[in-house]
Amino acid sequence: MRIAVIGTGYVGLVTGTCLAESGNDVVCVDNNVQKIAILQEGRLPIYEPGLLELVQRNQREGRLHFTTDLSAAVQEAQLIFVAVGTPPTPEGAADLSAVFSVVDAVAQALRGVSPPPTSPRILVIKSTVPVGTNARISARLQELGCAHLLEVASNPEFLKEGAAIEDFMKPDRVVVGVRRPEVAEVLRELYAPFLRTDRPFLVMSPESAEMTKYAANAMLATKISFINEMANLCDRLGADIHDVRRGIGHDQRIGFQFLFPGPGYGGSCFPKDVGAVIAMGRQVGCPMRLMEAVDAVNHAQKQILFRKISAHYRGQLAGLTIAIWGLSFKPRTDDIREAPSLVLIEALLREQVHLRVHDPEAMHNVRALYGDRLYYARNPYDAVQGADALVIVTEWAEFRHPDFALIRQLMKGHVIFDGRNIYEPRQMANWGFTYYGIGRGLPL
Ligand code: NAD
Repeated sequence: MRIAVIGTGYVGLVTGTCLAESGNDVVCVDNNVQKIAILQEGRLPIYEPGLLELVQRNQREGRLHFTTDLSAAVQEAQLIFVAVGTPPTPEGAADLSAVFSVVDAVAQALRGVSPPPTSPRILVIKSTVPVGTNARISARLQELGCAHLLEVASNPEFLKEGAAIEDFMKPDRVVVGVRRPEVAEVLRELYAPFLRTDRPFLVMSPESAEMTKYAANAMLATKISFINEMANLCDRLGADIHDVRRGIGHDQRIGFQFLFPGPGYGGSCFPKDVGAVIAMGRQVGCPMRLMEAVDAVNHAQKQILFRKISAHYRGQLAGLTIAIWGLSFKPRTDDIREAPSLVLIEALLREQVHLRVHDPEAMHNVRALYGDRLYYARNPYDAVQGADALVIVTEWAEFRHPDFALIRQLMKGHVIFDGRNIYEPRQMANWGFTYYGIGRGLPL
């Protein structure tokens, strides 16, 4: 199939590349000239494991193209994916201005072009958008006199940054929201190569598909805030959340997944989507009390590492040197949007702490924000040189088994604040570190 994907961020670029990999002819569009120039040179503007090889191969084989020319791209396409950002407004709702500017541009480009004779041209909304957006887009196309040219389908994306290729290639499920079954059939054919292991292709109304995406992220965010709150209580009461998690996880109604305590969830999705659910509820007079609590717990949790550090040093932080390992909002990505590391960095800089930071992939993004206010360490050991304390904020695999003898030797003080519970308290004590985890039964 001939496909245009508009928006070449984490979702659009992965979508376009994976669809090219399964044999489609794909053109990816973005209005960021620099991004497109980088992609045209066969490089990536983002870090995502495995993506570079796929982009280069499909480019070389002529199935994947990059352009800023939306009009030319969509005129040739049978399927037009919209994967632009939907960031939060100051009130917490989803900002749909990029989505609607794309809808208008697509309508403009298709005016005068006849629909393909065999099947309808489909505008596929992959961006996460509030319930009712599909209907609003259809109404907008009607207003522009283009409704007969385009079907509008909702096809929320569930990929995880850091495992995006795997998630797209082998999705747990594909959800499509359509008004006409023929539209679902075109999408079923498109996704067939990715669903060969009997993963379900779920067809529903656009409203249900839109809501499904928010419900999924709301549930995942709830699990994180739940376990974080339990961990905080463990800290106060002397219980160990690690054991508690084992104790509850074997109950099959609960399970183990996504129940890891930490310094709060970040990223471009959970905070914004929880906010959007609250905003949707507000608009229709349906207070989303649980989501409000999930959001409030998360805001507080993003302060947890600072609170532990401040308590350990009795508020006397000025002049200390602290090493931070992990800056991205989670491992295997360079994305720092809403990352807990940024909240910690801000708080420590305010207290005049010297920071030596290291991350395997996100350094360039953090440097763009903080310039020479931080020391950007070449590797984890460079970061701990002369440090009073080490803080683990993101659980990159390379931080799991470091050379503790060397760390002890390099550090000035011997305190570790482990925001991801990747080390064992007893082992840390054996190495001679004062160790703080999250919910490991140690005082705040
Ligand atoms: P992103 O910010 O990485 O990418 C968005 C891209 O759209 C950018 O490259 C931007 O330049 C481009 N863009 C914006 N306006 C444009 C326009 N008018 N014309 C052409 N290009 C335009 O965003 P993302 O993380 O890929 O997310 C995209 C959507 O997918 C969001 O709605 C998000 O909620 C959703 N989503 C994201 C993830 C994720 O893990 N990142 C997962 C599932 C769903």
